[in-house]
Amino acid sequence: MDRWIGYYDERAETGSWAERRAAQIEKFQRLLPRAARGAPAVRRRLTDAGLDPEAPISVDVLSRLPVTRKGELMEVQKSDPPFGGFLAVPSGELKRIYVSPGPVYDPLGRNLDDRRSETTLFAAGVRPGDVVQNCFLYHLTPFGLYFDDALGNMGCPVVPAGVGNTDLQARIMRDLSVKAFIGTPSFLKTILDKVVEDGFDPRVDLQIETAVVGAEMLPESLRAEIEDLAAMKVIQAFGTGDVGLVGHECPRQKGYHLFDELIIEIVDPDTGAEVGYGAPGEMVVTSLNETYPVIRLGIGDLVVVEDDPCPCGRTSPRLTRILGRIDMLTKVRGQFIHPANVARLVGLFDEAARGRAVVDRQGHQDTFVLEMVLAPGAAPGDELKDRIEAAARDVFRLRAEVAFVDGAGVEADGPAIVDRRKWD
Ligand SMILES: [Zn+2]
Repeated sequence: MDRWIGYYDERAETGSWAERRAAQIEKFQRLLPRAARGAPAVRRRLTDAGLDPEAPISVDVLSRLPVTRKGELMEVQKSDPPFGGFLAVPSGELKRIYVSPGPVYDPLGRNLDDRRSETTLFAAGVRPGDVVQNCFLYHLTPFGLYFDDALGNMGCPVVPAGVGNTDLQARIMRDLSVKAFIGTPSFLKTILDKVVEDGFDPRVDLQIETAVVGAEMLPESLRAEIEDLAAMKVIQAFGTGDVGLVGHECPRQKGYHLFDELIIEIVDPDTGAEVGYGAPGEMVVTSLNETYPVIRLGIGDLVVVEDDPCPCGRTSPRLTRILGRIDMLTKVRGQFIHPANVARLVGLFDEAARGRAVVDRQGHQDTFVLEMVLAPGAAPGDELKDRIEAAARDVFRLRAEVAFVDGAGVEADGPAIVDRRKWD
């Protein structure tokens, strides 16, 4: 059996994107009037934007509705408890109510036609009959049960292992010939390290072949380490408690294929205007969910989505880069800069040990200085300065001035961006 080929639903995953998008818009147009009838918050958003909730709806209305930031959900729910007025069915019809940190309550309907987790598991090589060790939390938060339900539908025996108990987890993985792990990548590494510590060779003594990981950043170095240690593949899933899974990697590991169950806009965090494929912007998600229609939720991640074809044959656009959180953004001369890009710039130069961006104000102009600490043996000079400034223009799309400073001024674990502007 080759677990790295095939699709869970070939037509849905490989059909033309234009047709899939049209079906998505059609579903949105059907859903929104119904959501407006059931959910007062949806109705209010439409009327506030000057729209008639009873009239036929076009997808263009989305851009006229406000973006709710993930951080605001708690307040929205508090002002109209418990679901902020977004629940479109009577609460007695719910299957579960998850509780995310905050607390934020995330309701789950009973009759959900949602194959996102099955699609993710299949793309990660999980096949019927595989014994799966599910190490996501089972209580309060959604992903433990979310994948458990899906594995049941697929015909995979599940070990509902949850988090913790590393000794036992390592034992389970060996004794039960576990084929797939589900959970956080750091916990998978902890279990594999324990297997080694117990005197076993994961490549020989484990049957594990794949993992679906999520809920934390996975550095490529850690992925390579795990894949090598246990001769397995590690596939990432991306999602949030409020809207569920947003996308999944395929065996080619070229970004997250986005799901049709969500309308995903990538917008300028400042103006709300769509930025298009290939440009960084904030991910704004509208969930085509009849129970809990979350409309334009800004999940706070600064991302890049691309639509070039993936060699796996799936046709959806892909989330190819997660650049960081938008609440860490600083705006300089109208352009957003992100701490991750400071690190990226430093990484481009062997001569640079570390650096930070200092933003200040001179008259009515922003100044943008990159303070660079050089690596031992590297010599400061105009040629190096010119090269870094040229690279900075590419990275930040801004003119920056480079200043070489000695190490004492820039702490290694200090902030990547220092904003000295005063606005009073
Ligand atoms: Zn792919």
